[in-house]
Parts: sequence; structure tokens; C-alpha cells
Amino acid sequence: MQKLIALVTGANTGIGKEIARQLVRAGLTVYVGARDAERGEQAVAELGGDARPLLLDVTDAASIDAAALAVDALDVLVNNAGISSEDATPDLVDTDTFRRVYETNVFGPAAVTNAFLPALRRSAHARIVNISSGTGSLTWAVGPQFPHRGSHAAYRSSKTALNALTIFYAHALSDDGIKVNALAPGLRRTNLNARAAASEGDPAEAATGAVRLALLPDDGPSGQFLSWDGTQVPW
Ligand code: NAP
Repeated sequence: MQKLIALVTGANTGIGKEIARQLVRAGLTVYVGARDAERGEQAVAELGGDARPLLLDVTDAASIDAAALAVDALDVLVNNAGISSEDATPDLVDTDTFRRVYETNVFGPAAVTNAFLPALRRSAHARIVNISSGTGSLTWAVGPQFPHRGSHAAYRSSKTALNALTIFYAHALSDDGIKVNALAPGLRRTNLNARAAASEGDPAEAATGAVRLALLPDDGPSGQFLSWDGTQVPW
């Protein structure tokens, strides 16, 4: 079987780096997406195996085009790059903040997906994994899980929008055999925000869920929102 090729955006640190590490270990060629060349090179040096740097800022159309030109074959795309927002309800969030967060968390994955679709369509087993968040679940938002109603409005609503795109892409690409799923990684110790940084959650554990979706068999699900442990998350 031909060696599979993956791209993980925002893979120089955090959950993305752990996803890249596990995909390299599984024997894939892995493009380590990073918006900063030096941080990308550092991660590649640490990851070893067939990890390769790919300069990619998901908010920059020219950067996306250049990255897509550099990669002509792709089996797995992990839209992992993301940013957080302040812990504010929507009435206190200005439009610029909504725009900034949506640029990275919503428009970024859509633009990157569209740019790499020609390469993905050439794969016999293409998979797209969108790294979402349980905080984007509307079902959980109206339940007891999130007692601080409306908090982190820009970030959480951006992940809700990413979930919607996951469903729409899964439907649009089903005839191409491309499976598209969203992952809720759980709270993990990363640079995302102060709450994440202070948590005990191991980002490598979250990465196992992303890798499972990246390497789904042909009879695996598509258009699903799954937790890192494989259980369903309500939309
Ligand atoms: P992180 O450590 O801050 O990593 C985020 C990654 O995204 C970094 O590599 C960052 O690059 C990159 N990035 C940000 N903006 C970018 C852009 N415009 N272009 C390209 N790369 C960009 O956070 P993380 O927790 O690993 O986050 C990974 C994903 O998991 C995100 O989508 C996040 O929303 C999601 N998530 C995380 C948690 C958690 O508890 N950690 C929970 C739920 C969901 P720089 O290093 O250059 O900033």
C-alpha cells in the first residue's frame, strides 16, 4: 500500500503537534503546518520520522495557495489551528473580535479545505478532521453542562459554525468518498488560553481521537461530532 500523506494545521505545538507525532509514528508522511517558519522547523526536528515543515497561516489566502501548490498528494487533512477568545458574553464582544476568531476557526478551515480538495480528491481514502470543541455544542449549551451561559461567545460560536461546516462538507464530499468529522478533544494543557494552560488534560490523549478519525476505514462514519474517546457529542 502507498504511504499515506497528512497535513495538520497549527502543528507546531499543543494538540496539533501530538496529532502530527502520532501520525508520524503510524508511518505517515506528515506536513507540519505552522504560521511561523522557525516554530515549524523546531517541531519537525523534534518529531523526526517523515515530518515535513509547511508554512501555512490559515487566515492568509496567499499562504494557503502557496502551501496547496507545494503539496500535490494528500490523504488526511486535520484542521487543527485555532485561537481562543476572551471569556465574554456576546453583548460584550466587539465585531472585530468575532471577525478575528472566525477568520482562524471558521473561514480558515473552509479556505484550507477548499484549497487542498483537488489533492484530497486524488486520494482513494481521503479524510478530513476538524478540531472542534465540546463548548460548541448547542445541546450542551442549553443543558446543565455550561452553567456560565453565553461565556466565551466568539470562540464557542465559531466552533458551532465549524460543526455546521463539518456536516455540510460531509454531505458535499460523500460522492468523492471523503469522510469529514469533527472532534471534541476535551480540556487539554496547551497554550490555547489560561483555562487550558492550567488544566491536567494530556494533549496526546486528545490526539488519539483525531488519529482514529484520520485513519477511519472505508465503512467508518462521516458527518459526525465525536469526543476524543470515540463517543458521540450532541450537536
Ligand atoms: P495551542 O497550543 O494554542 O495551539 C494552537 C495552534 O494553532 C498553534 O500551533 C498556533 O500557532 C496555531 N494557529 C493559530 N492561529 C493560526 C493561524 N492563523 N494559522 C496557522 N496556525 C495558527 O492550542 P490547542 O489547544 O493545541 O488548540 C488546537 C485546537 O484544539 C484548536 O482548534 C482549539 O480550539 C481546539 N481545542 C482545544 C482545547 C484545549 O483544551 N486545549 C479544547 C477544545 C478544543 P502559534 O504557535 O504560531 O500560535
